[in-house]
Amino acid sequence: MQTSTRTNGPDTSRIRHLPSHLVNQIAAGEVIERPAAAVKELVENSIDAGATSIDIALRDGGKTLIQISDDGHGMNRDELSDCLERHATSKLLDDDLLNIHTLGFRGEALPSIASVSHVTIQSRSANNGDAWEIICDNGEKSEPRPSSHFKGTQITVRNIFYKTPARLKFLKSDKAEFMAVKEVLYRLALAHPNITFRLTHQEKTVGDFQVYNDATSDIERQKMRVQKIIGPDFGENAIAINNLRESMTLGGLISLPTYHRATSQQQYLFVNGRPVKDKLLHSALRAAYADVLPGNRFPVAVLFLTVPTKEVDVNVHPAKTEVRFRDAQSVRNFLVSTLKHAILGDSRTTSSHLVDKAISSFHQDNHQPSAGYTASYGNSMRPVMPPPVTQNMTERAHDVYKPLFEAEPTANNMSTPYIDEVQQEVDINAEAYPLGAAKAQVHKNYIISQTADGLVIIDQHAAHERLVYEKLKAQLTEKGIQKQGLITPEIVTLPEDKIDTLVSEQEYLDRFGLSIEPFGKDAVSINAIPAILSSTKIAWATLLDDIAETLQANLDHNMLEEKINHRLATDACHGSVRSGRILNNAEMNALLRDMERTPLSGQCNHGRPTYVSLKLSDIEKLFGRK
Ligand code: ADP
Ligand code: MG
Repeated sequence: MQTSTRTNGPDTSRIRHLPSHLVNQIAAGEVIERPAAAVKELVENSIDAGATSIDIALRDGGKTLIQISDDGHGMNRDELSDCLERHATSKLLDDDLLNIHTLGFRGEALPSIASVSHVTIQSRSANNGDAWEIICDNGEKSEPRPSSHFKGTQITVRNIFYKTPARLKFLKSDKAEFMAVKEVLYRLALAHPNITFRLTHQEKTVGDFQVYNDATSDIERQKMRVQKIIGPDFGENAIAINNLRESMTLGGLISLPTYHRATSQQQYLFVNGRPVKDKLLHSALRAAYADVLPGNRFPVAVLFLTVPTKEVDVNVHPAKTEVRFRDAQSVRNFLVSTLKHAILGDSRTTSSHLVDKAISSFHQDNHQPSAGYTASYGNSMRPVMPPPVTQNMTERAHDVYKPLFEAEPTANNMSTPYIDEVQQEVDINAEAYPLGAAKAQVHKNYIISQTADGLVIIDQHAAHERLVYEKLKAQLTEKGIQKQGLITPEIVTLPEDKIDTLVSEQEYLDRFGLSIEPFGKDAVSINAIPAILSSTKIAWATLLDDIAETLQANLDHNMLEEKINHRLATDACHGSVRSGRILNNAEMNALLRDMERTPLSGQCNHGRPTYVSLKLSDIEKLFGRK
């Protein structure tokens, strides 16, 4: 590499060209910041080389050893020598950075890794069958020499960063580095269900992701890989996504709104098969769930977006984990509408794991060494003797429900026959009444309802909360929110710039039923509020402050709408039928009918389910009849 040889008299330039090993080390700082990054680059190379099986062996979280073996097409002698040169790649065929079909293309990873570690590469080219080996120690590479390597390529990286102690110091514990490698591998394995991945740490197998050869379709193979990595739980509580719009497709699995996590860790997003951590995609996912999950809970998702290569720039981040879309807005719209649609379609389903939990707790009660049934509702319930097994299901149900009515004597339900008109309708037209006929209210908050093929337990508070919220939203789209004038306007003082922002958005806020007027330089007066919120106590100053901040940070009006909706949702919660209110049969049935008409009624605004259902077959299982 060229050092400064130009002489312009004694006063030569102080700028010098850095030697190549230093250039590589600097690049390594960007591309390879920890062992997991090296693993990512090496495994991506194996995938690009057409491998069907990739083994990853680590020692000490990758700090002392990373060894990747693949069965890909390998490299010949010249390629082996070239692959360690900076910006040397076999992948950019036509010099077009917008026509990239491989994971790699920068020709940076191998020289970067080799500049901060001891690397041995052994490879047998599928073309001519010769095997060669090359060694590179901290940037100093050897001549290739013949090797006895069997198939594909094996790259061994020893003691990464051993000559750059500053970097070494920044590494975390072996365990933390290992976890980071695992994360990287999960992402790649999710995107490539047709490749077998094996991971060993300290000679122990810690991950074995085989190709699911019994699958009848690619989608099934993909689903099995997802279940293997994220867990069968997710598979059972996921909505399948498969949509195509113009030249974009979106596929994968997202969790039911009732199945969520405290972090976004389990959101695996891919663009054209490349794992990315992209803000646009994460925010689209968040927006799709905004109505059904509170801001501090995160859905689980594995999503594959494909777009034409010319529509996306993958060269915006050294580790290639971010991308830039030519038309970001239409990508976002496509994502949000596809996901929302899917969530809406599945909104009356609640997670099976909740039902399973309920069933298993019923089971536990049944196995208590007591003589009769002590249903799981606590001590206030009188034990009921098990009905004779000859009784039919309805009769048995009556015997179990009877004491519930006695426990909650309200004028109406005392006189209601057990098989009432609503029940007849439910039985005749099960499709129209999936939530069945209300039979009883227990513990002043749970409605028990008999459906055509089982029973449903409804959390009346959660359900009502969802209904209030949906009503509010429907009002908004139909005719704008109804306003209620304030007799004494409320004055809210905020910094001047925020007041300016709010005043400039007056019209917009008005559509949400909030009418404000400037009141001096640093205050606004609130003259009217959404009527639906008139009976709730709201800290308007804080709300306006939040809204101004959102507007200032990001002029995306959707954000504001989401925020207001969310805010309204929280308030809807307070305006809802509280648990503890005794409802009569007519009120209960009205609530159920309302829920059936309402989209997204399967969960409250906080992502909790509004009801759980037990099929007759499940109930029969509980009684040992199946
Ligand atoms: P890039 O992947 O961006 O091309 P790399 O530095 O990661 O850059 O790799 C350089 C080149 O080495 C690749 O273009 C490829 O030709 C070759 N190579 C690297 N790893 C392998 C492998 N496992 N099997 C076959 N060829 C490989
Ligand atoms: Mg590469």
